[in-house]
Amino acid sequence: MDLKDRIVAVTGGAGGIGLAMLQRFAASGAIPAALDLTPERCDRAAHELRKLHPRAGAWTCNVASEESVTAAFQALRSNYGRIDVAVLNAGILDDGLLLRVDRTTGKVKARMSLAQWQRVIDVNLTGVFLSGREAAAIMVEEGGGVIIPIASVAMHGNAGQSNYSAAKAGVAALTRLWAQELSRFKIRVAGIAPGFVATEMVLKDMNQQALDLWKSRIPIGRLGDPQEIADAAHFIACNELVNGVVLEISGGVKI
Ligand code: NAD
Repeated sequence: MDLKDRIVAVTGGAGGIGLAMLQRFAASGAIPAALDLTPERCDRAAHELRKLHPRAGAWTCNVASEESVTAAFQALRSNYGRIDVAVLNAGILDDGLLLRVDRTTGKVKARMSLAQWQRVIDVNLTGVFLSGREAAAIMVEEGGGVIIPIASVAMHGNAGQSNYSAAKAGVAALTRLWAQELSRFKIRVAGIAPGFVATEMVLKDMNQQALDLWKSRIPIGRLGDPQEIADAAHFIACNELVNGVVLEISGGVKI
């Protein structure tokens, strides 16, 4: 796909990996459109992205809300007429063990709450379902496109992440099944499962010791750069053979 003046929409596009993706696509001449949680984040992203393309835009959208997602995608369509690439990237972490057990007594001290489970499922799985559904509906009517859901290597099951791992495994399944359902509408679907990437999500609660521990688990000895994930999204958008797969872009980390 020649990306010149193609419309690229990214959920969670005002920060971290999402913003890096929009900048990468804009560098190839695409029109970047960010969807993100707050007007402040959207204003900042729009300001940055308009330096790269005059038609760049940003819309507030909570991917966990059907009403908000529908309105945001309608606004995108009214503004641009179509969407060529949709990256389903918005995501959150809320880690915790399924059970916390007192080592001395063997008694269960705490459980992962339903609210903690649901918060992550709502954003990371339902959010991908809702935004993927709306992007696909526009693409079907406008002649095709590419959908790139963002999973994680945690989809294989990472201790301390029942909610996050389950959501990301669901995202990987949606990627493969949407590629089957949507191919007849000229829509490709291929995802990315990043490993550990240096963004606010990973760095904000991590001290140096924890960071060093994580790095020691990554064969290349460092975290990924958001730009490297953005390059992978660009590759997927441009290469028609990539379909129905989730690419692990992780420096070789195994979970
Ligand atoms: P980040 O926290 O830096 O950025 C996430 C963005 O999503 C923010 O701009 C935030 O405002 C937005 N967002 C959060 N909730 C939202 C909602 N309900 N609706 C709309 N936008 C919302 O995170 P990141 O590291 O850039 O992560 C991006 C994606 O990559 C996520 O899906 C994450 O699970 C995935 N991922 C990240 C890593 C990593 O190591 N950073 C690893 C694997 C997968």
